[in-house]
Amino acid sequence: MSISYPTPSMVQGQIYQNFIGGAWRSSRSGETFVSTNPAHISEVIGLYQKSTAADLEDAIAAAVGAQPAWAAIPAPERGEILLRAALLLDQQKEELAALMTREMGKILKETRGDVQTAIDVAKYVAGEGRRAEGETIPSGLLNKFCMTMRQPIGIVGIITPWNFPLAIPAWKTFPALLAGNAVILKPASDTPLLSLKLAEVLQEAGLPAGVLNVITGPGGSLGDALVSHEKVNMISLTGSTEVGRHVAEICGRDLRRCALELGGKNAVIVLEDADLDLAAESVTWGAFGTTGQRCTATSRVIVQKSVQNAFTDRLVAAAEKLRVGDGLSPDVDMGPLVNTGRVKAVQEYAEIGKQEGATLVLGGFPLTGGDYREGAFYEPTIFTDVAPSMRIAKEEVFGPLLSIIPVASYEEAIQVANSTEYGLSTAIFTESTRVTFRAMRDIVSGLVYFNAPTTGAEVHLPFGGMKASGNGHRELGKKAVEEFSETKTVFVSYPERK
Ligand code: NAD
Repeated sequence: MSISYPTPSMVQGQIYQNFIGGAWRSSRSGETFVSTNPAHISEVIGLYQKSTAADLEDAIAAAVGAQPAWAAIPAPERGEILLRAALLLDQQKEELAALMTREMGKILKETRGDVQTAIDVAKYVAGEGRRAEGETIPSGLLNKFCMTMRQPIGIVGIITPWNFPLAIPAWKTFPALLAGNAVILKPASDTPLLSLKLAEVLQEAGLPAGVLNVITGPGGSLGDALVSHEKVNMISLTGSTEVGRHVAEICGRDLRRCALELGGKNAVIVLEDADLDLAAESVTWGAFGTTGQRCTATSRVIVQKSVQNAFTDRLVAAAEKLRVGDGLSPDVDMGPLVNTGRVKAVQEYAEIGKQEGATLVLGGFPLTGGDYREGAFYEPTIFTDVAPSMRIAKEEVFGPLLSIIPVASYEEAIQVANSTEYGLSTAIFTESTRVTFRAMRDIVSGLVYFNAPTTGAEVHLPFGGMKASGNGHRELGKKAVEEFSETKTVFVSYPERK
C-alpha cells in the first residue's frame, strides 16, 4: 500500500519554546520539529524545540535549584496551587479540547474528557495536601514512639505518550509536585502542545520558577539522557512496553526509582447469558473510541460460540454506523490515527490477519480520497474466527482493529484472556453473580470491568497493569502521591532518666 499524503507547510506554524526555570527558551540546538493535524496533514499545529542533552542540563539545574524551597512550602499550600490550576484549566476547557483534537485527532467529546480528567486530578490531589502523610505505629519496646513520614524524592523525570496529551502529563505531574518534588516533563513528539499549556497554567496558578520544566524533543536521545541523568531520582513513564523495558534497564542499572505504565491487549469476554446489545454497544466504544489508540482499548472479544453470530451481527451493525472524520466536527464518532505511520502499522496488521486465516467482517483498509484525502484515516476493522495463537490476537495494534475469538466455555475464555503478555484491562459481560465473583478472582489484569467497556478510569481509583503492562506501580487514587515520595521511619525513645 502506498498512499500519498500532503506535505506540511513549515512556514505557517507558531514556534513554541521549552519552559525552563520559569522562562520560555529556545533549544541550544537551534533546531525545531513540526507537529501536524492528523485530520489535515498540511496544517501545522506548531514548531517545537528539538532539545538536546545541553537543554536538559539547563532544566536539571533549574529543578535542582528550585526543589528545596518548594519542598519547604507546607503541603496544603502546594495543594492550593493545584486547585488554582484546576480552575484555570476549567476556564480554558473548550480551547484546550479543540487544540488537542487538532493536535492528535480524537473527537471533541473525548478531548473534553481528557481536559476534565486533568481538572479532576488537580482537585483530588490538591486535597491530598491536607491529609496525613504518615502513620504512627506502636513500638514493641517501652518508652518508644514510632512513626513514618513522607518526604520528596527530589527530581522526577516524567515521560508521556501522545494519546492522552493533557490527562497523563497532569496525573503524573500533579502528585509529583504535591509531594514536594521538582519535575522535568518530556511529552511525546506528536503532542507537545498540551504539556506546554500545562506549564503555562501552573505558572499562572503560582508555581515557583524551576519547579516544573517542560522540554520537547526526540524520545531516543533526549528521553535516554533524562532517564540516565545522575541527578534524576525517579522516572515515571507511560508508553509502549518496548520503551518501558529499555527505560527499566537503565533505571535498574542505576538503582533509580522507575514507575512504568505500558501497553495492553485488552479483552472483553462475552458469555452466553450476556446482554448482547449492551455488550455490542460497549465493545464498539471500547474498540473504536480514540480510534483504538488507548492503552485500555478493547482489542479482543472472547465470545462463547453459542452467541458468536448473534453478538458479531450486533457489533458489526453498530460499528458500521460510526462516522469517521475530523474530530472537530460534532457529527463524527471516530477521528484519524495520530499520524500516517500509524495508518501503515494498522494496515500491516490487517494484512497479517488475512494471511493468518482470520475472517474479515468489517473494514480492513485506510480511508483515502474525498474528505479523507488530507488525513490519517482508517476504517473500523473487525476480524472474526481469530485463533488465540494469531499475531492479531496477541500483539498490541493500537488502532481500530478488533479480533473476535470464539471459545467453548467460561474456563476457556479466562485461559485465552490471560494468555497474552499483557495484563492491563479486561471486561466481562454476564448476568451471573457466581461467574462475576469467579472472574474477579480469575482475571489477571490491573483493571476489571463487569458489563462495561475496558476503558473508563476514575481519578480517585488506582490505575495500572499487571505483567508486561507495567512494573507494579499504580497511578491515580490514594497511592498517587505516595508513588512520588519516600517513606522515612522514625523511632523516638524517651527512657526514664537513671
Ligand atoms: P512510546 O513508547 O513510543 O513513547 C512514549 C514516550 O517515551 C514518548 O514521550 C517518547 O518520546 C518516549 N521515548 C521513546 N523512546 C525513549 C527512550 N529510549 N528513552 C526514554 N524515552 C523514550 O509510546 P507512544 O507511541 O507515545 O504511546 C503508545 C503506547 O503507550 C502504547 O503502547 C500504549 O499502550 C501505551 N500507553 C499506556 C498507558 C498506560 O497507562 N498503561 C496509557 C497510554 C498509553
